[in-house]
Amino acid sequence: MSRPFDIGLETLTGQPLLSGNVARQGVGAGQRGTFFLETFGCQMNDHDSEKVAGVLLSRGYRQVEKPEAASLILYNTCSIREKAAQKVFSRLGEYRDKQAEGKIIGVLGCVAQQEGEDIFTRAPWVSLVCGSASYSKLPEMIAQLEAGNHRVTGLDTDTDETFETDVTRRDNPWRAYLTIIEGCDKACSYCVVPYTRGPERSRASDSILREVRQLADLGYSEVQLLGQTVNSYADPTARRMRFSELLLAVAEVEGIRRVRFTTSHPSDFTRDIVEAIESQPKLCDHVHLPVQSGSTRVLRAMQRTYSREEYLEKIAMIRNASRPIAITTDVIVGFPGETESEFEETLSLLSEVKYHNLFSFKYSPRPNTPSLAMRDMIPEEEKGRRLAVLQERQREIQTVQHATLVGETFEVLVSGKSRRENQWFGYSTSHRVINFTSQATELLGTYVQVHVTGAGPNNLVGEHAA
Ligand code: SAM
Ligand code: SF4
Repeated sequence: MSRPFDIGLETLTGQPLLSGNVARQGVGAGQRGTFFLETFGCQMNDHDSEKVAGVLLSRGYRQVEKPEAASLILYNTCSIREKAAQKVFSRLGEYRDKQAEGKIIGVLGCVAQQEGEDIFTRAPWVSLVCGSASYSKLPEMIAQLEAGNHRVTGLDTDTDETFETDVTRRDNPWRAYLTIIEGCDKACSYCVVPYTRGPERSRASDSILREVRQLADLGYSEVQLLGQTVNSYADPTARRMRFSELLLAVAEVEGIRRVRFTTSHPSDFTRDIVEAIESQPKLCDHVHLPVQSGSTRVLRAMQRTYSREEYLEKIAMIRNASRPIAITTDVIVGFPGETESEFEETLSLLSEVKYHNLFSFKYSPRPNTPSLAMRDMIPEEEKGRRLAVLQERQREIQTVQHATLVGETFEVLVSGKSRRENQWFGYSTSHRVINFTSQATELLGTYVQVHVTGAGPNNLVGEHAA
């Protein structure tokens, strides 16, 4: 779902013009050039791209939908699994002749951080490599290229500038992403994030709340706080707000109706977060709590810092809340050395917890990670089989769970309109997708009551209740 590209800067900022940048000096949209930006990856990558687009738009660049029309072609890529990293190199291959036409080709994000200057060797037509902590410096880096520099890099990982961009061009006009904590200090043995995004840095609570107030003024009613381990948030200011206090403060901002947060790490998931959800209805009934495996032996090998039993205690704490909270998770199958019976422990965990949704991945060996050196790599074919079995189990669970919701009524934030007449879709506070019929002519971005009349494994269907 993307917004048109020609949004006025006033709409993005809520201010007439920006501070300390080219736009202030009177450079109009497109006068500096045009850019095409493609993103592969998670919500944090999507949000990083929103910041990159904001930085460039505010400096007088215009965003275009096709690389052919751009003077600047940028790929923002995730490297969490090998496939995503390969994808960017195959995309770059399509543009090997474009440098000769005067186009600047750049790689941003985790792949940029991970591969660094090696990208210039692998794809010599690339002239810009920039990790996520250096996005605010992009205009200066591009200016260097325009001035005749052949190659520029921005590869710091622990700068404080990560969060602060003057303008963010958000794709969704109702739900705004907001990164509150960057990097990660956990050391899961399979994961590249600590290498690509650097150490954990939390954003100042007053800066977060200022941006939330601006977002509410611009008409956003839902905010989603982001971080690799969002609940490890540690306010660097004298206020020392706890994560749960921050959630409550965000919910109190006038105009905000829903607050989400992702991803939570089980070890840092504490009772006060559940209490905050219990006490404040604007905090959504949904927690994403990645488990990765149902086997304590595998969890230890993954360096996940909790056992199966400790994880289940967190689940019990959430389930005991005074209102129902949907729980979703991430699972990796085929971690090195995972036996058939350890895999079955993951299946039994699924049956026990009955997740509302699940994101599942085949283990992917990543550069620099400790698990690379582990023995007993599971063959690709076997990983594929385990993934299919896991997904089928989850499908059965969701089918049963969704059937119990028929007859209920949910509040839905209407997020899209289907091509079929009178068909809309949106999300409940527990992040269930509901497709529904309504005779109304305009509902996008509004909150409506939907009566559920049917259910499938992946969504609910219903009717707009008067
Ligand atoms: N920080 C989050 C956490 O601790 O759960 C997850 C961040 S990661 C972007 C999202 C998911 O990708 C992880 O939860 C994990 O399931 C998956 N993942 C990470 N590294 C992986 C790897 N090497 N192979 C397969 N899946 C991986
Ligand atoms: Fe990666 Fe683990 Fe950090 Fe999540 S908690 S980002 S999986 S190292």
